[in-house]
Amino acid sequence: MGLAIGRCGMGEITGISWTDHTFNIAWGCTKVSPACDNCYAEREAIRFGYSAGGKHFPIWGQKEQRRKLSDAYWSEPIKWDRMARENWSESLKKGKPAYKTRLTFTSSMADVLEDHPDLDSERAKLWELVDKTKFLQWIILTKRPQNFRKMLPPEWLKEPRMNVILMTTVEMQQYTWRIDEMLKVPAHCYAVSAEPLLGPLNLEKYLPAKVPVAPHAMPEKWSDWTWPDWVPRRLAADIESFWSDKCGRGPREWAENACSSYNNHPPFGDNVTLEHVGGNTSRTGLYVPRWNNIGSVVTGLNEYEIVGSCSYKQPASLDWVVVGGESGKNARVSNPDWYRKLRDQTKAAGMRFHFKQYGAWMPVGEPKDDPEYYGGKAIVCPPPRACTASVQSLVERDELRLVDGHWMLRAPRKDSKWHERILDGKLWDERPQMRPDPPF
Ligand code: SF4
Repeated sequence: MGLAIGRCGMGEITGISWTDHTFNIAWGCTKVSPACDNCYAEREAIRFGYSAGGKHFPIWGQKEQRRKLSDAYWSEPIKWDRMARENWSESLKKGKPAYKTRLTFTSSMADVLEDHPDLDSERAKLWELVDKTKFLQWIILTKRPQNFRKMLPPEWLKEPRMNVILMTTVEMQQYTWRIDEMLKVPAHCYAVSAEPLLGPLNLEKYLPAKVPVAPHAMPEKWSDWTWPDWVPRRLAADIESFWSDKCGRGPREWAENACSSYNNHPPFGDNVTLEHVGGNTSRTGLYVPRWNNIGSVVTGLNEYEIVGSCSYKQPASLDWVVVGGESGKNARVSNPDWYRKLRDQTKAAGMRFHFKQYGAWMPVGEPKDDPEYYGGKAIVCPPPRACTASVQSLVERDELRLVDGHWMLRAPRKDSKWHERILDGKLWDERPQMRPDPPF
């Protein structure tokens, strides 16, 4: 999907901040929307000679064939899975279970759901591989989510796989239909890649809040938290005693746990009917998450019952949002306020947010020409940086732009510091919630 990868696109270790591994089912694609205009994968393919006049056959466009990859390459995820499994076993022996999801993204040099005859066989192999590698958490990213239903294995639609995250690219508001398409397909985890972000994007309707206050805004100690009046005191005390300050687990952890897509909690305070944990009867009332997939429904004044959240039919919504600007020679400029809005919406709903990069255009403070230093050339901040030209000539050379009140400077080539990932003083490096149990 047009993103940078390591090892000549072969992908054992990836340079993409939001995944651990990258795996390609093939090389080659057809462009479908503005996000594809400066497709990185196409540039890479041409660099490796996959073009008309290159040393290999062309692989771009619907009529061209796709580059398939070797059996040795296809065996790589089996090794990654084994490593993850060994890591888990080792941690168990040490008495410190350290299961960590190994995110594995497919595909950076193609679109897994492209309707192309060469991909049919490769997709079939991929689904088999995903089922064999339960210690890898596969991210299936596409700009063609309308094909999920017809291209995923039918058995996955009946029983969604715990190690599969469905993800679609939405580069601007007019492409939110892709989220609607994706959410029609059953899955345990849904994500959006708003990269490159080419316009303002409002995801509010896809991010319903699950807790009264976003987890990051919840206090760390129970003494700093006030329950709404309708929550019975005994129930609040039960929750506080489980998520005890003494064990270092305060309201923030409770809220985080409640927001995990795997625990399937209804939103806090929603009127629900759920099965009682002690039998087959159900209870109706206002919902309060407790821990894992256990909650309570408040049925009256100071009355409540313990219920399981497994039977809750959760309306599908997003769990994770990845955002970033475009890189490369012809990169388009993104307004930093578009990133901020997505961060604020995602965090208010208690969901995970990952800011991947500014890309080629970095916001800077108001630049000025300083006659005393740098020979009268422009200075831009942050970081304080002398340019080789005046403000006016930077603008004339299209290296500096004023975009909706933000000064944006084009990152000098090979100057990686200009691709920093700090948004308003913070590294937003979040990943999807881990699965609750190791996948034995
Ligand atoms: S879908 Fe992805 S790989 Fe295909 S052309 Fe668009 S950006 Fe490139």
